[in-house]
Amino acid sequence: MTTVDVLVIGGGPVGLTAAALLGDLGVETLLVDRKPTTSSHPRAFGVHPRTMEVWRRLGVADDVRSVAVPPEHTAGIGWMTSLTGMEVGRLMFPPPPSVEVSPEPGCFCAQHRYEAVLHEAAQARAAVSVRFGCEVTAIQRPDAPRLTVVDSSTGVSEVVSARYVVAADGLASPVRQRLGVRERATGRFGHSVNVYFRADLAPLRKERPFALTWTVGPGAEGTFAVVAADLHEWTFNFEADPDHVYSEAELIAAVQRGVGDPGLAVEILDVLRWDYEQAVTDSWCVGRTFFCGDSAHRFPPHGGFGMNSGVQDAENLAWKLAAVLRWGAGESLLDTYETERKPVATYNSARALANTQALASAKWDAEHAQASVDAQVEHFFTLGQQMGTVYRSAAVIDDGQPVEQSTVTTYVESACPGARAPHVELRGADGRSISTIDLCRGRFVALVGAGAPIPDERRPASDGRPPIAWAAIGPTGDYRPIGRSWHDVYGVGDAGTVLVRPDGHVAARFAEPPSPATVAEVVQRLLGRLAG
Ligand SMILES: Cc1cc2nc3c(=O)[nH]c(=O)nc-3n(C[C@H](O)[C@H](O)[C@H](O)COP(=O)(O)OP(=O)(O)OC[C@H]3O[C@@H](n4cnc5c(N)ncnc54)[C@H](O)[C@@H]3O)c2cc1C
Repeated sequence: MTTVDVLVIGGGPVGLTAAALLGDLGVETLLVDRKPTTSSHPRAFGVHPRTMEVWRRLGVADDVRSVAVPPEHTAGIGWMTSLTGMEVGRLMFPPPPSVEVSPEPGCFCAQHRYEAVLHEAAQARAAVSVRFGCEVTAIQRPDAPRLTVVDSSTGVSEVVSARYVVAADGLASPVRQRLGVRERATGRFGHSVNVYFRADLAPLRKERPFALTWTVGPGAEGTFAVVAADLHEWTFNFEADPDHVYSEAELIAAVQRGVGDPGLAVEILDVLRWDYEQAVTDSWCVGRTFFCGDSAHRFPPHGGFGMNSGVQDAENLAWKLAAVLRWGAGESLLDTYETERKPVATYNSARALANTQALASAKWDAEHAQASVDAQVEHFFTLGQQMGTVYRSAAVIDDGQPVEQSTVTTYVESACPGARAPHVELRGADGRSISTIDLCRGRFVALVGAGAPIPDERRPASDGRPPIAWAAIGPTGDYRPIGRSWHDVYGVGDAGTVLVRPDGHVAARFAEPPSPATVAEVVQRLLGRLAG
């Protein structure tokens, strides 16, 4: 029998991210996936800045960006009668506001390409073992999980005993089904075919550098997404008959109609059938098994929050599991995973349904086209929805200050407890530029204002206590802000201190400088080791 701290089921973007994060936190992790290797289909393209920040902490943001389609080819969204036809509407992205609010602007990258990067990252962690071609076929005792894992190439099965299980096993989630977990769901309400193909569409792109192009002319209906920087790889998604098996010739003809060129040379690379559906799982945890990513929530891809939400589930869960396994946190900390992430999934799923509705009711004749484009703003400009999440739970200490909420489109930067600690560019003693978000990698960090006394003992703990680092920010501190004032952005005076959790969300904010003992006590309380 194999024994591990955490078994991650599923090597999609969520499971791979969870495994790599757990590995960085020193948690012995086994990831299994029943597929022979990572996926071959470019499903989710829109990678939000918040997701890039998580991958930055893993050291792979640049690698993902290097396999993404560059911004000059993904500068907006278009609506056309066909790809060779008439343009009826466009929404161009403004220069990324995220340059100011994040060191990692979002990117447009095909899922199979970033999964390969994440696979390598997970494998590179000494504490992580990754096994593709291995299926979990049974789970016993979710409170003390024992699972049967079958190697598909040999047929050999083994029992794996895990302290905790992360079920990142996708929207059909066999684990969720086996454990009989219910969902709040609308059910299926549409069926699509996504055709991944090769064709030279570069000549059509000169003045239309759209990441996504909806083709809306009669017979051409569908959506094109650019997959490769050389503009020779694409997907075409169209509403399909769920009962019909499409031949290769039919798929090629559908692409040709969307392009508006019946003679276009098209090579089909892969085909994915998928359903429109929406669901949020009732319980995000059964015993010691946690649902993460599509196994916990699924919604239409409009707005692009499926994978992005899942990566942030993984970020939220990984440090809490590490805190229980390595830093002596109480198991009650794990309850805050559902408390914090379920409302986000519920909100994102409502937004995705609204986006689907806005697309479905759009009209593209001359009279209505502009109003239809305008109605898509909250679909495609979602910085507030992406970055403005503020958690409320026992793992956050409210400071009683009013919280200015972000809207879907507008991100209101805030370092209020529960919010993502904002990005401020800093220069370290070695002269290198870094971001505040780099300081909380895998540990708690107390960001201390220039006017606050800096505690003598500033080294992270290594003896089973939670690691707490201290970073003094100011002209005479460890880090000097470049440009924006840290005090202004974080809403603290000269002596203020902000305690940030390992997932980059603010745990507590102090107007007066706290002693190291106070900070340590606050951390113990957050970890469920002190009452109150
Ligand atoms: C056309 C399309 C476009 C999309 N666009 C976007 C977008 O722009 N942005 C966005 O954020 N999201 C988008 N999504 C959604 C996104 O693809 C999913 O949210 C994402 O793949 C979820 O990742 P995951 O790791 O949770 O699950 P998955 O990627 O589904 O991975 C689950 C893994 O679990 C494995 N598995 C299942 N059962 C077992 C078992 N018993 N044993 C071992 N392994 C098992 C599977 O083999 C699979 O590899 C899109 C989806 C589609 C279909």
